[in-house]
Amino acid sequence: MKFFFPDSQDQINPDFDFVTEEHLALRVRQRDDLYAHEVLDGHVIDGLLVSKAIVDGTAGSAGKYTAAQRNRLYRVGVRRFFRLDQTSSSHIQTMGDCGAFSYIDEEKPPVTPDQVIDFYAECGFDLGISVDHVIFGFDPAADIDPHHPQLEQWQLRQQITLQLASEFLALSRARKVRFEPLGVAQGWSPASYAAAVRSLQQIGYKRIALGGMVPLKTPEILASLRAISLAREPDTQLHLLGITRCSNISEFASYGVKSFDSTSAFRQAFKDDKDNYHTMDRTYTAIRVPQVDGLPKLKKQILAGKVDQELAIQRERACLRALREYDVGQGSAQHVIDAIQHYNDITGLRTYYDAYLDVLTDTPWRSCPCSICTKAGINMILFRGSERNKRRGFHNIYVFRRRLDRELNARS
Ligand SMILES: [Zn+2]
Repeated sequence: MKFFFPDSQDQINPDFDFVTEEHLALRVRQRDDLYAHEVLDGHVIDGLLVSKAIVDGTAGSAGKYTAAQRNRLYRVGVRRFFRLDQTSSSHIQTMGDCGAFSYIDEEKPPVTPDQVIDFYAECGFDLGISVDHVIFGFDPAADIDPHHPQLEQWQLRQQITLQLASEFLALSRARKVRFEPLGVAQGWSPASYAAAVRSLQQIGYKRIALGGMVPLKTPEILASLRAISLAREPDTQLHLLGITRCSNISEFASYGVKSFDSTSAFRQAFKDDKDNYHTMDRTYTAIRVPQVDGLPKLKKQILAGKVDQELAIQRERACLRALREYDVGQGSAQHVIDAIQHYNDITGLRTYYDAYLDVLTDTPWRSCPCSICTKAGINMILFRGSERNKRRGFHNIYVFRRRLDRELNARS
């Protein structure tokens, strides 16, 4: 089972100083900052998924790449851009897709198969996904109700996706591309997903990506995979696009799923209310110590003269000091939480007393063998700024991989 991590230009700087919160003066982002696959040792990540929408942007929005980064990617190719030409990362495969969620509201995809093939071929991807149009909705009742309000639109999107997959494969063959093409199946029910897979196999695809599954619940994904398995030819390999629930992946494997991509473990580090730091058996809440500057409401109060800026900064620093002292065995967990409560009296943020006491008492960063926790210590459970939050995200990817391997081993 191969795990692809979707690129969003997330990097950390290994020389970041947690005490001064500064980068080295001579830091060059492109040269010195590291991607997840460079920080995490071994086979944690099997592949990178790079979306054309993130690189090139779409009609409505700019991508995540600066013009310089974009030019560099096209010029040096995806392997050199992500430094996959090192021995330690030579096993990592690269997959391109068009980023269908970025144009979900449009009537038709704004990109053509030719444009997408240009992107895959010029950047030198190993695998390229056909242009698709996401069906946003899941309702098996539509299969037996011809008057279902959304059926017409869903059928149209499925047709568009199949038509584009057919053009994409024909063009890829005509242009003798070096990447392996994947066709996308979109559906609104187990039966409609199975029908799409059947059509893609007839078109000639051996590798099929299942799209639109991001919002689906696990039983819905499993029901769809069961129906697909009846249509799937033995040598057809499946990729699950954008999986958010990762607890049943070994079961997915039994239905022919060979790979998937997910950002959820990474993003939970700084997007989730409470499940921020993952371990093999549970999750912890990260301790929120935001920068005074990073709180718009507080800044307004400071400008209005209602809050003393100096005092706010003093209390913020007191939190960081208390956390550092705690990590070297000076001061108690209660002392840390008092400092946080003191700061939150000004910020108005909630102090998650029980959750904070829990993570401080268990000190999970000390027992994690990953190279990030070993170096960053208590900063791993600090919800503050990109350097700390992304480190925690990378650590979560590491744990996610170990949990996945444990699950797969238990099944085999
Ligand atoms: Zn770790």
